[in-house]
Amino acid sequence: MKLWAVVENGKPLQQMDLPDPEPQGSEVVLKVSHCGVCHSDLHFWKGEYNLGGGKVLRLTDRGVELPRAPGHEVLGTVVKVGPEAEGIAVGDRRIVFPWLGCGTCERCTSDQENLCDKPAAIGVVRHGGFGSHVVVPHPRYLVDFGDVDPAFAATLACSGITVYSAIRKLQPLDPERPVLLIGAGGLGHAALGMLRALGHEKTIVVDIDATKLEAAREAGATHVIDGTADNVVAQILAAAGGPVPAAMDFVNNTTTASTGLECLAKNGKLVLLGVAGGDLQLSLAGMIFRPRSIIGSATGSLGDLRAVAELARQGKLMPMPIMRMKKDDANEALEKLKSGQVTGRIVLES
Ligand SMILES: [Zn+2]
Ligand SMILES: [Zn+2]
Repeated sequence: MKLWAVVENGKPLQQMDLPDPEPQGSEVVLKVSHCGVCHSDLHFWKGEYNLGGGKVLRLTDRGVELPRAPGHEVLGTVVKVGPEAEGIAVGDRRIVFPWLGCGTCERCTSDQENLCDKPAAIGVVRHGGFGSHVVVPHPRYLVDFGDVDPAFAATLACSGITVYSAIRKLQPLDPERPVLLIGAGGLGHAALGMLRALGHEKTIVVDIDATKLEAAREAGATHVIDGTADNVVAQILAAAGGPVPAAMDFVNNTTTASTGLECLAKNGKLVLLGVAGGDLQLSLAGMIFRPRSIIGSATGSLGDLRAVAELARQGKLMPMPIMRMKKDDANEALEKLKSGQVTGRIVLES
């Protein structure tokens, strides 16, 4: 198998050749046809996260070893099945659930495998979709996508379930009430489509990039607001007709999270999803006079992936804008994402 792998953090990906994988036990090997490129792939490439207060989290401290092929929005065709793999056949095309854990702990056995303390995620701890093949430990991690465009279906494995899981955390939420979205990149677009599929029509989108705001408007955002304006909060409140009950921050830096929190109504919820990083100053008494919740959210579960694949199969989920590139241009794809030139999602095809 061929890989485009991170060999050294921050340096261009290198092409590597490894022996073709042979499935053992219940394992399944897929030939990757599509792989979305996510902001977390950029962080993986860089090798660190900003934790705020000058602290940095290094991926190597989380048990990640290099070289490693990134890519966790993987879709492909089954080419080999292990002797104990049931319910799947060579030639089947499936989305891969990448957020694997240990498989045996309380979280893993209650459909929260994405929150396992021993993560084994595909594209992080195991080789991902920037390789020609991926090995999946069990057929249960493979999800049928029917006639959905495979490039879009691939993105459901991260951006799709990430926004679905975040929207679940905002419930109960009257569908008539406005939802604030901060950041109109891949996740922001996925959220616009998902909110609409779930009946939420009123959305206010903030971004600092005019092109992305225009794309958000075309994708159905009710209001779009330039995040560089000096009265962003006032503009959001005006657009919403008052404080908002629900907000999602896809950037999650000091400025954006403060803005989101400031715009919340009493009992409003702010879900943090991005990893831009920084820290947040919080008026503690203010959290009593105007009670609000700040909720962190990381990807989603296998059940979430089955649910979003079903929404897509039923035609309820509007695809986000997709820029198709060849896998051999993986380095160029990362550079494009890094420089903010991507509206929606880049999907590598092979
Ligand atoms: Zn991702
Ligand atoms: Zn576990």
